[in-house]
Parts: sequence; structure tokens; C-alpha cells
Amino acid sequence: MNPMKRKSDCPWTSTRKRKKQRKTTESISEHKKTTLAQSDKGSWFDQVKWLDEEELNASVSARKLCSEIDSDDRTEKRNNIVVDINLLNGAIERSLVCKFCQCPVFCEELEERSGQGVRFGFVCTNANCSLIQMPFNSSSKSGKLFDINRVSTLAFPAIGRGQLAAAKTLSILGLPKPLSKPVWCENTRIIADACSELVREELEHSARELKELVETDSEGYCTTAVSFDGSWCSRGWCARDGVVAGISLKTGKVLDVIHLSSSCSTCDRLEKLHSEGQLSRMEFLEKQVEHGEVCYLNHDGSAQSMEAAGVLTLYKRTPEGIRYSPFVGDGDSKSYSQLEQAAPYGPSFHIPKEDCIAHVTKKRMGTNLRKKSKKLADGRKGLGGVGGLTTKRIDSMQGWYGQAIRNNKGDAKAMSKATHAILKHCSSTLENPNHSDCPTEKSSWCSFQRDIANGTELHRPYKHPLTPAIVDAIQPIFDSLGDE
Ligand SMILES: [Zn+2]
Ligand SMILES: [Zn+2]
Ligand SMILES: [Zn+2]
Repeated sequence: MNPMKRKSDCPWTSTRKRKKQRKTTESISEHKKTTLAQSDKGSWFDQVKWLDEEELNASVSARKLCSEIDSDDRTEKRNNIVVDINLLNGAIERSLVCKFCQCPVFCEELEERSGQGVRFGFVCTNANCSLIQMPFNSSSKSGKLFDINRVSTLAFPAIGRGQLAAAKTLSILGLPKPLSKPVWCENTRIIADACSELVREELEHSARELKELVETDSEGYCTTAVSFDGSWCSRGWCARDGVVAGISLKTGKVLDVIHLSSSCSTCDRLEKLHSEGQLSRMEFLEKQVEHGEVCYLNHDGSAQSMEAAGVLTLYKRTPEGIRYSPFVGDGDSKSYSQLEQAAPYGPSFHIPKEDCIAHVTKKRMGTNLRKKSKKLADGRKGLGGVGGLTTKRIDSMQGWYGQAIRNNKGDAKAMSKATHAILKHCSSTLENPNHSDCPTEKSSWCSFQRDIANGTELHRPYKHPLTPAIVDAIQPIFDSLGDE
């Protein structure tokens, strides 16, 4: 069992730990709040400003960002709450009376529900008194649409789910149905447009910022090192959507980003209708042309080729006056060879390549360790299992390895020592701690040294440290990479 888990049995440590983890908004300083709002994270969708303008009162996480108040405070601005309408009605009937006939009143839905939004009114129980008092909405409205419906069309896509998932979730919660599919789609489109517009502004801003920082060369270009990396919506070979981003090493900001997709649900649907004979060839072609403008499909090929294709597109549409050079890759992509062939800045401009060393060696070490942990083809047992190379342990070792390389840039000896410290750390036992080479700073990855630096007592020795046999087996991996 993980020693950290065991610790939570103790009421003292668990309370203390929870306190530490919970980041209340109060603990975020004014300065941090400003920087957070200005950072990519805060300003990408510009949530804070948007909220102020639109008063979207259900976006809890965005509210958290601007809310000053602790969760125990009653005046907190999280306005939405789920109420059982029968309980509410019971309470109203017991305490409110009609102001004309003094009979009890109850709360009734006055109009048909629109998504999560409802219009209520108080109705008198006296049949002779047709009073309907104070009609009110369950959520504020912007134009025709309840704000709660707008945020729900933002919330579900934010976790990669659509209207169908929304319907299921809401029905389990006993909440009203989501908006109908067409309205939902229309809203998603509006939100997507707003996001694209914001992304465009942000990218323009980072290009401007870069131009201010970097001097132009004799040809009038701002030449800057840009790191490219791709990400997919799911792991493996079958991912159908991915993004590729170019990040300036100078400013650390994203300069351009592209979304690649090798599928489009509308195209699939049209093709299906056509193959089933529900659309004639003529109708099919007409609809395809019509759909072409908004089609998402922009990548023909495997998920693996997405990164290279994305990089090439980003190069071809480099903002005016900027050149992405050198190309900084993660070492295992085919992007660079394709880029060399395409020569996006003309045949006379050579784009040099640089690999992020920490990234490359870190990746290579992870791969080597993973290979070792698996059962070998000739039937020999791998090094996985208790006291061996578990996935979790490999992940931590890989992360620490990257840190060791980065923190000791340019000093081969220190780098070798720092990387070998990882093995020593992982084979430490309670009786025989071996953390002398682990980094000693306050934010060290080694909890033993971190305790010493911070005066805490959080370190728990490994329950299953790496056995000496395992250490012997993986030592060569550390040696060979350390030598480079
Ligand atoms: Zn009445
Ligand atoms: Zn399409
Ligand atoms: Zn250590």
C-alpha cells in the first residue's frame, strides 16, 4: 500500500493535510490574482471579464477566481442551488399568505420549462381569488435565453460531453431536460465563435509582445525559437482530434495553435444517408458543398501524422514579420524532416533544429524502464511488481530525472550525481536511508530532504523499496544516459 494512503488513517495528519491542500481564494494574494487573470490560464477565455459583463451566475470555478469570500460565508456568490420543489412549496404554503384574501399561496410554474430555466409565480389556493403574485425566473436571462442554459452548454462540452450526456446526467439528478438539440447546437456555435475570437486576440497579443522583445534581423524579421508539441484527445493510435501548439521560448506564450480532426460527424451522417439511399447523389453533393464551409475535417491520415501536419500548417501561416527558428521539438516527432522538405520560408532559409535535452533523455529513460518492467519475450520475468518497477514508480522516476537534468544544465558531473541519486532514493529503507545525494532545497522532489529543509515530518519511507537486484538491473540505464 502507498505509505501516503496509510497516513490518512491518523486524524491529525489528515486534518493538517487537507487544510494545506485546500486553496481558499483568501490565500491567493492580490498580486497573484492579477497575474493569474492576466496569464494565459485566466485570460484565454477571459472568464473574469466575461462574467462581469454577462453575469453568468452559474460558472462556479470562474466565480471562485473572483470571489473573495470563504465557502462558509453566506454571502458567497454561487447563486445556483438545486431545490426539491415539493419541499419548497411545503415551506411556502406554511408561511406565506395571499395579500388579498389571506389564504395560503403556493409556487407554480407559469410557463413551459425552457431547459433548466423556469418561470415561477405564487398562486393563491383560494379558487375565488385568481391572484398570481410576483412572477419570477429561476435564472437571470440574457435576451431570450436563460443564463443557466447558456452555461450548461458551456459546462458539458468543457468536459468533452454533449447534449446526450447532459440529458442523461440531468435526468439522474431529477433536473429538467437540457435544451433541445438544435438550440443546444446553436448555443455551442455561439460559444465556440466567442472562444475563437478570444483566441485570435490572444495570439495577436503574444505576437505583438514578441515583436517588442526581439529585435528584427537585417531582413526585417523577428526570428525566435519556437517549441512545437502536439496533444491528442485520447491516447493511442485511434485519436481523431488533436491540437498542435507553437510556444515561443522567449516569452513562454503560445504563438499559434491549430486543431486537427480526422473525423466530422456531419460528413459521416451525410455519407450514411447517401449509402442508405435516403439522399440522392445530387442532394448528397449539394449538402456536402453547403457543409464544406463549417466542416471540421482537416486532417487526412493517422493520429501519428497529425503533429507533423500541424507543425507544417503553423509554419506556413507564421504571423507577418516573424520566423519560427530554430525549431524546438521533443525529439521523437517526424515533424522536422517534413518541415525541412517543405522549406516554408523559402529554399534559402534553413531552419535549424534543437531538441529539448531534458525532454528527450527523460522520455528515453521512461521508455527503457518500461521495457525492463515488462515480461520479456523469451519468458524471463520482467522487473515489475512489488519492490520493482511499477508504473507509478517509473512515472515519478521519469519526472525526477527530467528535473535533475534541467537543474544541472551544463555540469555533467552534477547531472550524473543528481540522476544517480534517484536510484539511491528509491532503494532507501527505514533502516538504511540513502538520500545524501537527493536535492536539498525546500521544493525538492525528495520528501526526506524536503522535510529537513522545511522542518516538517511528512516523509514516509518506501514500504517496498527497489530491491538490490532491481537496482543492479537498471543501473546501466542510468549510467548510459548519464554519460551522454
Ligand atoms: Zn388570494
Ligand atoms: Zn464535415
Ligand atoms: Zn531522497
